[in-house]
Formats: sequence, C-alpha cells, structure tokens
Amino acid sequence: MATLRPSVACPARPTVKTEALHAVNMESIVLFGPPGAGKGTQAQRIMQSTGLPQVSTGDMLRASVAAGTETGMKAKKFMDAGQLVPDDVIIALIRDRIQDADASNGVMFDGFPRTIPQAEALAGITNVSHVIAIEVPDEKIVERICGRYTCGNCGAVYHDTFNPTKTEGTCNSCGSSDFKRRADDNADTVMSRLSAYHEQTSPLADWYDSKGIFHRIDGDRAIDEISTDILIALE
Ligand code: AMP
Repeated sequence: MATLRPSVACPARPTVKTEALHAVNMESIVLFGPPGAGKGTQAQRIMQSTGLPQVSTGDMLRASVAAGTETGMKAKKFMDAGQLVPDDVIIALIRDRIQDADASNGVMFDGFPRTIPQAEALAGITNVSHVIAIEVPDEKIVERICGRYTCGNCGAVYHDTFNPTKTEGTCNSCGSSDFKRRADDNADTVMSRLSAYHEQTSPLADWYDSKGIFHRIDGDRAIDEISTDILIALE
C-alpha cells in the first residue's frame, strides 16, 4: 500500500543524519481534524499540488503493527481501544521519518500532532507554514468512519455511500480488487477516538491559531469543494 510507510529505513535514506539541515529547510503542512474528517482523502488529492509527501502517523503505526515491530507492539493496545499512543512513541516515529530523503523540503502531516507535547516537539523539528483544520460535526463522524474502506494495493480511500468506487469492486486508481477496512473503524471505538480528539487534540486549535497559521475548512461538503478551499488556504 503506497501510503503505508513502515518505520524502517527507506532505501533513499541519507547515510548522515540531516536533522539540523531539515530543521532549517523544511516547511511543512499539518492536516488537522477529528477521525473521519477526510484528512487522508484530502492529503492524497493535494499531494500533487504541494509536492509534499503525506506523513500519516496512523498509517505508520498500522504498518508497524502489521510488521510486528517493537513500536507496533507498544502501539496496538492503544489503537485497539481508540486511545492515543503515548507521545514518546509518536515523536520517535516522526523524528525517524523526517530523516528520509523525500522529506527534505517538508511534509504534509496527517493525524500528527495530536497533543500539545507533540506540537512542541514538532516545532523543534520543522517549520509549520499552515495548519488546515477540516471540520466535521460529531454526529456525521460515525457514519463516515463506519463506511470507510481503502484499496489494499494503492491506498486510495473510499466510502460505501459518499465516495464509492466507480465500478463496484474495482479501485478507480489502480484497478485492484483488494480492499481493506480498518479494525478500529467501528461504532464502539469511534466514540473513544472522538473523546480523545476533543480532550487531547482540539486544544491544539488555539495553540496554532495564536500563531496565525490556522485555517478552518468546512469538511461537511463535497470532496472537490474541500480540496479547492484547502488549495486556496495554502496559496
Ligand atoms: P488515524 O489513522 O490517524 O485515525 O490513527 C489511528 C490510531 O493511531 C489512533 O486512534 C491512535 O490510536 C493512533 N495514532 C495515530 N496518530 C497518532 C498521534 N499523532 N498520536 C497518538 N496516537 C496516534
């Protein structure tokens, strides 16, 4: 899956750590919002316009769980319960990921940061130029999450009702018929994930707003309209 990025070394990784260099050169974007707001969908759509790679901590963690890494083993019980994975695990994952060669001009974070300590750590790693908040009311989140599925081959994101494949059972992007649903995309876990968002993540809105880089986008609209508004905010 193209968007699933294990925390192991990328073949293009530079032999010398370049964290200091990245800290100077990088200018990154944060996609912010509750679970099911459409951050992953929008990241894929605007990736070509921005040229920045999508860095989804959720995807990285799922890849770590699937690979049975130490990070995956630490994260799994939190993910299964719909709780946030501890900050030290997440920050280590991000510090490692931004050393990859494709991150040298910045990245598009999807699902990170989710706590104030994560945002503080990020501020020491890269410049954030825009935080794009995709806003969707809680009552819409459950139906959005419960109908969600992705292509197991290329990672394209679909929804049973709102964004089905054009031909049933065939991915629009790559033609694969291998689809996946996430274990935590169920009505029980979504309530915990929403609580975690309101209690631990939403305070970040004021934190970024005070820095003048926070852009609110109405996420309860057609996917194309949302993409257009995000690109305008990024101009
Ligand atoms: P997501 O795919 O972004 O919805 O994330 C799935 C799950 O991974 C979340 O419910 C958390 O358990 C965990 N997770 C992903 N990103 C983070 C993060 N930045 N901080 C803490 N936990 C995270």
